[in-house]
Amino acid sequence: DALFAPERRNSRGFDLTDAGDLARVEAARAAHHTATFTAAPLIAGPSAPQGPDAARNPAAPDDLPGQVLPASAADIETALAAARPWDAPDEIRARILSRAADLYEQEFGQIFALLAREAGKTVPDAVGELREAVDFLRYYAAGAASLAQPARGVFACISPWNFPLAIFTGQVAAALAAGNAVLAKPAEQSPLIAALAVRLLHQAGVPASALQFLPGAGATVGAALTSDPRVDGVCFTGSTETAQTIRRAMAAHLAPGAPLIAETGGLNVMIVDSTALPEQAVRDIIASAFQSAGQRCSALRCLYLQEDIAAPVLEMLKGAMDELSLGDPWELATDIGPVIDQAAHQEITAHVETARREGRLLKQLTAPAAGTFIGPALIRVSGIEALEREVFGPVLHVATFAAAELDQVIERVNATGYGLTFGLHSRIDDRVQQVVNRLHVGNIYVNRNQIGAIVGSQPFGGEGLSGTGPKAGGPAYLPRFTRAAPAPADP
Ligand code: GLU
Repeated sequence: DALFAPERRNSRGFDLTDAGDLARVEAARAAHHTATFTAAPLIAGPSAPQGPDAARNPAAPDDLPGQVLPASAADIETALAAARPWDAPDEIRARILSRAADLYEQEFGQIFALLAREAGKTVPDAVGELREAVDFLRYYAAGAASLAQPARGVFACISPWNFPLAIFTGQVAAALAAGNAVLAKPAEQSPLIAALAVRLLHQAGVPASALQFLPGAGATVGAALTSDPRVDGVCFTGSTETAQTIRRAMAAHLAPGAPLIAETGGLNVMIVDSTALPEQAVRDIIASAFQSAGQRCSALRCLYLQEDIAAPVLEMLKGAMDELSLGDPWELATDIGPVIDQAAHQEITAHVETARREGRLLKQLTAPAAGTFIGPALIRVSGIEALEREVFGPVLHVATFAAAELDQVIERVNATGYGLTFGLHSRIDDRVQQVVNRLHVGNIYVNRNQIGAIVGSQPFGGEGLSGTGPKAGGPAYLPRFTRAAPAPADP
């Protein structure tokens, strides 16, 4: 065996416009169209789980992709008692995580099938998600080799359903690359895909005592992990409210200085000024607001159009929305799949209906009747201050501004307290520079869409209410999982 080489490339993924790639994707995932998967605790000791509960396909109420056995209180105790930091040499850990990346790529059929059936992901979204997951594995594996500091100990990794493979894997891979023991709690809505990821990581050689898996509810498993003094740090992606609950639990029960690495919500804005190229802006607005059914924390929530160009851009935007196809994420032609569950469906629908009653709904596409689909919607607002909270679905709010009001818009964006992504379409270089300098936002995108950060080249993470940093997929992330790195100021 040659020494593990820390050079690294992002994965190639699949080109869905290439007939050969497309045929491979179709053949591999078709085998799992009706398969049944299981998520049960994977712990280094005997398990006595609860359940089983049925996992649901958000696009098709009759499809049951599998069953879930949530961890019991006894399972959580067993896992906490059995957790052992991964003390293999850096190079071995790196090699094993890279091997896991290879296994993920080999198992792409199961992964794409589960991303569609458990999380409602379209094929292009699933391709992007697998790429991001393997890129995280290889990126943190490469980083392990140059970490001079010891592991913290035991990390609880609590992950969201909107990137059930990529974010789950990114958290776990970073904690493991640094040599920690991981207790991984997946989102309640997406345990099947996370269980598959853990099986592949174990198969690659991660020891059972270094990576344990505890599916279950936030109120039980999450609460137990974040308030147990045997836990030395928490990595969380999800809502800002949940991050605040976790911080309070940690403050009361964990050792002082135990890090919380949190990536949370956003109220993300895009500004399109009168010098922008309308066709390009519209394409990027559609992707930013509606791809993944708007279920990205990076997604565009409030679009500001300069008033001189607002009318024609809005017309073009409505026309582009008409071209979107909603439906079964398993179908290749589908652009927009369902939202994750009934609760999300109700909350988003209520928001759209309020706008409809108030005469502010500019457009909404019709959604399929079965499954939790929401027709992409366009809602007029006065500005970002009208949005009380993040609406996590395919809903775009639109405001207009006069040329002289640009500074005020930037102030309002900063005043939300959130700072995750921001988009700007303008061909005036000075203006771009000024806006970028004044914003308190983690990821700023100019003359392109504002989603889909790339591991290694676009580290991703926000400021203020949007997260603690450091950015995932960037050089500052891994050191935070070790003992030496200083704690950043509280947000
Ligand atoms: N990293 C993703 C992106 O850039 C968003 C992650 C999230 O939604 O939590 O679109």
